[in-house]
Amino acid sequence: MSNTNLEQLQDSTSESDRDARILKQGRKLFIREFEKQLKQLNSLLDKIRSAPVVHDLNQFYRIIHTLKGSAPIFGYVRIGKLADDLVRAWEWTQSLDIDSEAVLLQLNPIHESAEHSLHVLRDMNMECDIGVTEIQIDEQQDPAGVSMLGSMKSRLLLVDDDEVLRSYLTRRLQLDDCIVDEAADVESAKKLLRLHTYDLVTLDLMMHPQSGYELFEFLKDDPTLKCLPLIVLSGRNDLNDKVRCFHLGADDYVTKPFQYEELAARIYGLLKRTKNFEQLAFRDPLTGVFNRRYFDQQIRMELQRIELYPAPISLVFIDIDCFKKINDTYGHHVGDLVLQGLAHLLQVNLRSTDLLARFGGEEFVIALPNTAVEQAITTMQDILDKVRTKAVAQYEGQTFSITFSAGVAEWQEGMTVAEWVSKADDAMYQAKQQGRNRIVGASEEDDGGTMPRKSAATPQLPKKNLLIVENDPILRAILTSHLEHLPITITLATNGEEALGLLLGRSFDACILDGMMPKLDGFTLLEQIKKDTRLSHRDMKVLMLSGKKKEEDVARGFQMGADDYMTKPFSLVELEVRVKQLMNFV
Ligand code: GH3
Ligand code: MG
Ligand code: MG
Repeated sequence: MSNTNLEQLQDSTSESDRDARILKQGRKLFIREFEKQLKQLNSLLDKIRSAPVVHDLNQFYRIIHTLKGSAPIFGYVRIGKLADDLVRAWEWTQSLDIDSEAVLLQLNPIHESAEHSLHVLRDMNMECDIGVTEIQIDEQQDPAGVSMLGSMKSRLLLVDDDEVLRSYLTRRLQLDDCIVDEAADVESAKKLLRLHTYDLVTLDLMMHPQSGYELFEFLKDDPTLKCLPLIVLSGRNDLNDKVRCFHLGADDYVTKPFQYEELAARIYGLLKRTKNFEQLAFRDPLTGVFNRRYFDQQIRMELQRIELYPAPISLVFIDIDCFKKINDTYGHHVGDLVLQGLAHLLQVNLRSTDLLARFGGEEFVIALPNTAVEQAITTMQDILDKVRTKAVAQYEGQTFSITFSAGVAEWQEGMTVAEWVSKADDAMYQAKQQGRNRIVGASEEDDGGTMPRKSAATPQLPKKNLLIVENDPILRAILTSHLEHLPITITLATNGEEALGLLLGRSFDACILDGMMPKLDGFTLLEQIKKDTRLSHRDMKVLMLSGKKKEEDVARGFQMGADDYMTKPFSLVELEVRVKQLMNFV
């Protein structure tokens, strides 16, 4: 590129920079001005509605006329359209030759135009609100609530037939960094709910053709949606409505008109509580690290990933040394503090991809993906050095240090999770035997021969393969933990697409299929399996799990080729019996 070209380019970029700056300045000035004009318009309209005088009418008209022309210049197309709407509503007054105020009072159209303007001004107020917020964000003076909601990174669904309100809320929430989808009626809301996973729904009650109440039914029937946080946004401030909504499962009820800030704060509070709830299901309450249930589920997913993309993975089993003595000497409370301190120290010294969980009392497990046993030992040695030289807890001015013993085992093909954990546990036991305060790697051929403390008494039935396709993490965990005692290898898929990939890669003896899932639901997946020539010939039994209880849905499931059909909620005992039947265990 020649020098001149470069200069021209620089010139033109600085020119467009300047243009953008000027436009931004202009938008700011416009909105500030618009705020004032809007106040004026509101008070003029008040006057016109009670006692119209020519002077007020003319002033009102002048302002809307100017707005109609200026708003689009600064990119405020909606404001321009609303102003245009007002201009058209009042245009007739301009062609009137009014010389007497008295005439005005008798003009019926004044009343009509004024009532219409009331609505348009309401919409203008919302536009103004958005404009002001944008500027505040641009100037980095976040209005209250903005950063709070933004930090939740949530996806919301707004169900409301009021297009203006919906689009206003959408844009305000987007400014607060939320992902927002809109539905104008119950039917579209249902479609979206099947398609995406939402963190919260706001629901209008008065809608056509179906009322908001219909959506409650839909949500209630699907266990994956049953607990979805929901705020009713209604124009009806009616006690019966409120009571009914709360009975149906609404978490909050906000009456229109409302202040955006209040709604945002309520949304934030609800989201925060829900996230806490998720924590309860998967976190150990004392230390805050993952619990064993979560670990069991996640480790399966890790192993599935390795099957597709082979890489080493190691597991560490940690047990605090002489922990009982700490409890006995200083009390249980100090013991708790030590557990918390160690969990924290482990967490901060691990990679974000490592999976740490409290396994039981004073035992922790860590899965280290992409890590061979030697490397895992080095990592753990470093951490142990830190643990024994630093105080892990403090209480009443006293500091407490500990040591731990750990066993490390790398995963080998064909190993079950239980065998893997037990191998790491055996190595940990050897570390204790060798004097504690050390890390021991499990040798490849080590089958616990020297330490006959674990009996390998699992019956050696041929293992069968079960695929569970379920998008709800809690249900996935429950199903897994309930079925894993069977002589089966369980593979998990979180959605239909993932399942299809797994099915093409290998064969399964049976499959539990959730009927309702985002992206590719169970019914459609089943249809695809039966149609796909690569899969249709396989003898895989399918158990459909669905919230749909109607006879025709069940019939549809069987017609599509399901071998069994269970409706949610279901009994785990019954599920187990049916799985055993499908897999020929009984
Ligand atoms: P070793 O070095 O052989 O592992 O000895 P140890 O004393 O650490 O092992 P032992 O298994 O005899 O004792 C474990 C103790 O951990 C016993 C139990 O009371 C205590 N413990 C388990 N869970 C908790 C807990 O949540 N808080 C506290 N403070 N103590 C716990
Ligand atoms: Mg122990
Ligand atoms: Mg111990």
